[in-house]
Amino acid sequence: MTATVLDYAVRRANSPEYIQEDGTLLQDLVGAPSERDQETLVHVASSFQAALSATGSAEDNGIGVIIHCNDNHLRYPTSGFSGVYFDTSEGRQAQVRMNRGPAPGRTGPCGDNLRAFAYPYSRSDGMSGAAIVLCSIGAGSAFESSDKAGEVSLWRKQGNLSQSPEGLNTLGRYLSYMIIHELMHAIPASLPDSKAEIYGYVAIAGHNIGEVGGNPPSRNDRLHNADSFAFLAMAWYMNKYKFINGKAVWIPAKNNPPPDNL
Ligand SMILES: [Zn+2]
Repeated sequence: MTATVLDYAVRRANSPEYIQEDGTLLQDLVGAPSERDQETLVHVASSFQAALSATGSAEDNGIGVIIHCNDNHLRYPTSGFSGVYFDTSEGRQAQVRMNRGPAPGRTGPCGDNLRAFAYPYSRSDGMSGAAIVLCSIGAGSAFESSDKAGEVSLWRKQGNLSQSPEGLNTLGRYLSYMIIHELMHAIPASLPDSKAEIYGYVAIAGHNIGEVGGNPPSRNDRLHNADSFAFLAMAWYMNKYKFINGKAVWIPAKNNPPPDNL
């Protein structure tokens, strides 16, 4: 599913005939000067392609991405490493810096509202890559908030996303969104650790859903922000809609991008 959404996003970025000129998706999420800005579309296409390659579904399977559905493989030393977890599973060597210790009785950082995170690893055989952890405990976890009822498909086929006051943010509840967000950390184009990530439509666009203007982050930061790309891929995948100031709006059937392979 995630690979399908990413593959579709690469195709949308490479298909100028389906650009929704009166939408504001690229302007809001990645600070594009217009929806048709070629430099932005090239950057977006190559970023999505890199993430797709990282999943191993593309032809050049360059780096190894492993997805864990819990944090049981992480160990928290009893002393001396405040907030740092160790992954020594399957020959991997990685330190994972989180700003929290584990909950009582647990060895990893999942819990509370932590839904997912990613970190780079290397192995003694020279292989390296990125590990993605989807937290599976707690009410705010990835699996509790994922697409249990197949809603992504339902929204796409017949749901009326335009009735959602949350607009674009609605798409943040899906597992594919969370995996794409974490995959964006596995490619070099993501924000460096020293820069604070920007989460959610309001912080990324600089204004509330349905509003304009405001004081958004810089274009460069938005062009390298994992959440911007996760929302963009999901929004494009919802091919019956365009997004204007974060609100979903039906596209007339004659202008509707094809549902699958462009
Ligand atoms: Zn992130």
